[in-house]
Amino acid sequence: MNTDIIIAGSGCSGLYCALHLPKDQKITIITKSSLEESDSYLAQGGICVLNGEQDYDSFFEDTMRAGHYENNPQSVGIMIRSSRGVIEQLISYGVDFCRNADGSLAYTREGAHSKKRILYHEDVTGQEITSKLLQRVRERENITLLEHTTLLDVIMKDNCCCGAVLRMADGEIVAVRASYTILATGGVGGLYRHSTNFRHLTGDAVAIAAKHGLALQNVDYVQIHPTTFYNQDCSERSFLISESVRGEGAKLYNKNMERFVDELLPRDQVTQAIWKQMEEDGTDYVWEDLRMIDPKVLHRHFPNIVEFCAEKGYDVTRECIPVVPAQHYFMGGVKVDSFSKSSADRLYVIGEAACNGVHGKNRLASNSLLESLVFAGRAASQISEAPVTALPLPAVDLSQYADREKLEGTYRTLVLDEIKGRTKYV
Ligand SMILES: Cc1cc2nc3c(=O)[nH]c(=O)nc-3n(C[C@H](O)[C@H](O)[C@H](O)COP(=O)(O)OP(=O)(O)OC[C@H]3O[C@@H](n4cnc5c(N)ncnc54)[C@H](O)[C@@H]3O)c2cc1C
Repeated sequence: MNTDIIIAGSGCSGLYCALHLPKDQKITIITKSSLEESDSYLAQGGICVLNGEQDYDSFFEDTMRAGHYENNPQSVGIMIRSSRGVIEQLISYGVDFCRNADGSLAYTREGAHSKKRILYHEDVTGQEITSKLLQRVRERENITLLEHTTLLDVIMKDNCCCGAVLRMADGEIVAVRASYTILATGGVGGLYRHSTNFRHLTGDAVAIAAKHGLALQNVDYVQIHPTTFYNQDCSERSFLISESVRGEGAKLYNKNMERFVDELLPRDQVTQAIWKQMEEDGTDYVWEDLRMIDPKVLHRHFPNIVEFCAEKGYDVTRECIPVVPAQHYFMGGVKVDSFSKSSADRLYVIGEAACNGVHGKNRLASNSLLESLVFAGRAASQISEAPVTALPLPAVDLSQYADREKLEGTYRTLVLDEIKGRTKYV
């Protein structure tokens, strides 16, 4: 099998990148699961955008402060400066952001943002963005989408990527020759007991990069979301109670129904406070109170949260809900430059799988969709400027990938070894 460019992952970063690559290139997007099963579909809160030139310093400072000033300031600047262009592009793709009565874009605020600069579509912003990207991708004749097709490895020769090894939907293992390979495989939540991520997101790009000795960065920087609905059965993906709810005034209580933290602190600080409180109280959760939010706002802005809680037996307009922290986001990843190129030639990594340093030690809420799109676009722009022909594929022994369980175990160990010992909730 040959293609010009292979993209592993059909989340927002993979799709956006594909839409920005030349239309005369044959592009193949593969995804481990179905097209709708990516974390991009789950994003609730929204997407940040520079809200006027006067917002630049404040947006920059909020991002840096949340990241404990370990962020790469150049990457942060690129992301903020590119944000308006990305939003305009999304609107041109048909993305429908919430608007005021006069037709102007409506902005909301989340924890650790000092100003309103987040665009949203109800509480399903990620679904709105990603489904529209997918629609546009489906219209492109040069792009092929392959579901239930897994990237097992990249094929390297002299620090240059010549293609990839895939397990196709029917189980066949094939080597694919490609001029460029782009990894957009998302985060690591599937390796955790409690996570808001899809279970099949297991840090495969990180494992493959580690296997080939490529540079990684900040792999121990894993974000725990402070508020997910507490469910005794932890085999299910944890349901997120968006930060925007606290932005709109929701409060957190201990077992005596007393507040114990400033709810608008950055998420790592809120998480620490909740863990401490749970330990002091001897409980598995704390309470979140949404009753002070106008029910009309609750139903308009957070319909899915209201509905989910109702299914679990909680009427959020009348009673508090139990919440607990869970793994949520991966700040680290495969080290890339400001055009998303990894330490190997012809190999790009984008989205949550990559680390360009935007988020530092801790991601500011709603910066990840934006970061994924900005740097996916930059990868595409660099690749478009320098189209190259595919290199011959070196011989690959495909039998080494036949034992699925063994391979998954090896990759799991590779990623966890990088993370382990430095974070509490693996
Ligand atoms: C519940 C939740 C709420 C969120 N809310 C927000 C928010 O409000 N705002 C915000 O900015 N961010 C939010 N985020 C984070 C944001 O959604 C993600 O960081 C972002 O969507 C990542 O996009 P991505 O393209 O990198 O990866 P994903 O969208 O996760 O896509 C990864 C893709 O890779 C595929 N894949 C994985 N491994 C392989 C493999 N080996 N072979 C082939 N394919 C593979 C998957 O099938 C999937 O298609 C949220 C995340 C979650 C979980």
